[in-house]
Amino acid sequence: MKKKLIMTPGPTEIHETVRRAFLQPITNPDLDEDFYEFYLETCQRLKQIVDTKNDILILNGEGILGLEAACASLIEPGDRILCLDNGLFGQGFAHFVKIYGGEAVMLQFDYHRGIDVTKLEAFLEQDNRFKLATLVHCETPSGITNPVDTICPLLNAHGMMTVVDSVSALGGERLKTDEWKIDVLLGGSQKCLSAPPGLTLLSISQRAWTQIQNRETAIPGYYTNLAHWAGWYENKWFPYTQPISDIYGLRAAIDRWLEEEDPIQRHGLMARGVRQALLKAGLRLYPQDSFSNTVTTVMVPEEITFKTLFNEMKEEHHILIGGAFGYLKDQVFRIGHMGENCHEAKLYLTLKALNRVLNKYQVPLRGKLHHIFLQEIEI
Ligand SMILES: *Cc1c(COP(=O)(O)O)cnc(C)c1O
Repeated sequence: MKKKLIMTPGPTEIHETVRRAFLQPITNPDLDEDFYEFYLETCQRLKQIVDTKNDILILNGEGILGLEAACASLIEPGDRILCLDNGLFGQGFAHFVKIYGGEAVMLQFDYHRGIDVTKLEAFLEQDNRFKLATLVHCETPSGITNPVDTICPLLNAHGMMTVVDSVSALGGERLKTDEWKIDVLLGGSQKCLSAPPGLTLLSISQRAWTQIQNRETAIPGYYTNLAHWAGWYENKWFPYTQPISDIYGLRAAIDRWLEEEDPIQRHGLMARGVRQALLKAGLRLYPQDSFSNTVTTVMVPEEITFKTLFNEMKEEHHILIGGAFGYLKDQVFRIGHMGENCHEAKLYLTLKALNRVLNKYQVPLRGKLHHIFLQEIEI
């Protein structure tokens, strides 16, 4: 495959040190106690990134495995689950709830905006008889980051647990897992941490563990059964052989993140630069507020189709940009500014190439995207 710059909202570019980490010799992760220490230390460093004292697990499968494992382990047949829905992932959470016998009650919000906390509050005043609520931190298809910092404490005050899909936000948006009362936080290796796809990360509160271990019905399934992980360190026992090379890679990515003074601030600055460049040049963004730090979703201008835009970027400029699925298919294109993608040089190249393609198809632009971008990030 030809080398391309992958500017999609995950997977992202991988740094050289992360790729090299995969070359390290392996050991037997079940039998070598050193690996248990390494795994624990990796989890402890992840705790710093998401600001928690809760347990962290790294599971062998990409982001979706975490969503399914949380639902499989926490939900029992007949449980009422509140699914907050302001986008495709929020809506999709309900599928997992239903697979495990939960009654998914959807609370829908404007798809162009962050979740409206006032509306949520009014709803909860009428009905708060839920075991837990599911929500999405960053709605990746629409480029919207939800105010998890106010939503989760509110849900908690109404007595329910919170399960937050932060796959596309973890590492790129501020996260205070404990202060915000997030019971289960879900992340992935391939988004803002910029390791390859293949691992899911979960933080699990004491309250969630208690629920998992005191169920009335058995957890259906093995791979998604988090109860098998209880005491893994003390007993020196993993439910299955750990993907040691993937974990080496993730560790290198985590260490890179922790070495930087303020990666979240960089995400904020670059995201703003990209947005301002697009807006000032006259393009339209999909979201109307709550713009994500990690992905920008742009309406495809009428002079060009998504397919042409994607192909021109790929064939002429060797850059991959994102599209979207569901109701957004062919309506929007997306630029990921996550982790290793979230640097001036890569975003400059992307916007310069985009500017060329849009010019070629006579999309009117007020100013050059890459020039405005540079001005905006200098402020
Ligand atoms: C990427 C992502 C996931 C994981 O799904 P993939 O199959 O890896 O794309 C889950 N939730 C959100 C919000 C994501 O952005």
